[in-house]
Amino acid sequence: MAGAAGGLVGALFYAAFGPFKCKQCGPIARSEFPKDIQSKMTLGSLLLVVTAVVLFVLVIALLIFIKK
Ligand SMILES: [Zn+2]
Repeated sequence: MAGAAGGLVGALFYAAFGPFKCKQCGPIARSEFPKDIQSKMTLGSLLLVVTAVVLFVLVIALLIFIKK
């Protein structure tokens, strides 16, 4: 389960920092977006990372709790 949690966190990190994907055009580099959109994307990425870290810590805490 820790491995699955790690995989989920990895996927979230990839979603946060990987290229933005358009269904029609494929991956688009962040630098191609206007500066104000980029800062919004950065904020969204930070929120995703915080969510990922919180989820990971919760899963680890749960695993430790179950083993006791
Ligand atoms: Zn497009």
